[in-house]
Amino acid sequence: MAKGITKRSEDYAQWYTDLVLRAELADYAPVRGCMVIRPHGYAIWEKMQAALDRMFKETGHVNAYFPLFIPESFLHREAEHVEGFAPQCAVVTHGGGKKLEEPLYVRPTSETVIWYMYGKWIQSYRDLPILINQWANVVRWEMRTRLFLRTTEFLWQEGHTAHASMEEAEEEALRMLNVYRTFAEEYMALPVIVGQKTELEKFAGAVRTYSIEALTQDKRAIQAGTSHNLGQNFAKAFNVTFLNKNNELEYVYATSWGVSTRLIGALIMAHSDDQGLVLPPRLAPIEVVIVPIYRTEEERQQVLSVAEKLATQLRPSLTLKLDDRDTVTPGFKFNEWELKGVPVRVEIGPRDLEKQQAVLARRDTGEKRPVPLPQVRGRVETTLEAMQQDLYERALAFREANTFPVDTYQEFQEILAEKGGFLLAHWCGDSACELAIQEETKATIRCLPLEASEEAGECVRCGKPSSRRVVFAKAY
Ligand SMILES: [Zn+2]
Repeated sequence: MAKGITKRSEDYAQWYTDLVLRAELADYAPVRGCMVIRPHGYAIWEKMQAALDRMFKETGHVNAYFPLFIPESFLHREAEHVEGFAPQCAVVTHGGGKKLEEPLYVRPTSETVIWYMYGKWIQSYRDLPILINQWANVVRWEMRTRLFLRTTEFLWQEGHTAHASMEEAEEEALRMLNVYRTFAEEYMALPVIVGQKTELEKFAGAVRTYSIEALTQDKRAIQAGTSHNLGQNFAKAFNVTFLNKNNELEYVYATSWGVSTRLIGALIMAHSDDQGLVLPPRLAPIEVVIVPIYRTEEERQQVLSVAEKLATQLRPSLTLKLDDRDTVTPGFKFNEWELKGVPVRVEIGPRDLEKQQAVLARRDTGEKRPVPLPQVRGRVETTLEAMQQDLYERALAFREANTFPVDTYQEFQEILAEKGGFLLAHWCGDSACELAIQEETKATIRCLPLEASEEAGECVRCGKPSSRRVVFAKAY
């Protein structure tokens, strides 16, 4: 166990908090519920941003920036939206020492201000589609917060698109859901279930909400991204119409979609261990660290000279750190880089020099192997690829081992209490029944999986007919 980190088996929640603080990913801010993202945590966010931004651009999107402040009246234009968001908004009532004529909401999300602007920019079908993404911060006054998972202010991206038809909007919402899924699987090494949210769980103001859902090591669900088909709701609220090809006025169709710094919480919960952070190589700010080992000054010079040569060979293709600090021992360095989740460590000492080799240590398995010096670069690269793949396979096997079809309410409650995980159960489609299950068991419907097959059954609680299973879990 790393110093200062509670074991997962003792207290999973405390393990998570200890890890975030000790690995220097984030720290508590002076304002309750806010967090400081420290350089190591921010570097992970930058890797995520870079990959996602590239994927957004490859699917035709462009970036823009809209203001932080939203007039109070805007939020009130869409009835469900104001009901969903107003209670958790921060409101600015004074500016420049004077009371404002109209209070300003600090954005909890930007649909309202963006659709106000789209009203100025859209006249005809020729102005469509608009495919804009924004990287920004948002504020939601949360009562119970946890570093990365739920904070009062967080960083995210929000895509806001405008379309000429419902079909196009639906296609876009599903396209972006799929982008999120690809990102989760290929970069985060995180298997996810893609599905539709129930009426009760959908975004305030959406026609349909889709999400990707992952399973944490303590067998709870974590929503990792959402994509909404907003239909014409925001266009109606902001009176945004366009002349269609038949020269008729029609309201514009919309989508919005987002992921946030919560992804870092999901990433930690998916792969990390009692030694600290375990990062999939594609999101690791430092892929490989070289630790020279020596006692005498003569050894130091010999080892460092080889270590520097090795670093030069590796640097063109890898993000690398040569840890040549004299102030701490090699053992201290090993622990620190394990804590911070560097995927591969290369150790070089005097005995390795005699054999013209280095020792490669892999973070997730702890495996250590000697490698002849000329082969180090190739071996580091294959190890990183293998680790990326193995982390995904391990997480997938874990999810499969913790996904249970259940057919009776008794079985549902027993498995939920004893094992947790994803429960696949029939549900009648009634919100009242969904709410009752939630109150009685604390489990929510995570989604109606898009890839589930039709299967006749009976609602696990009320016995009414159902045509397919949905995914229940306790969630973060
Ligand atoms: Zn029911």
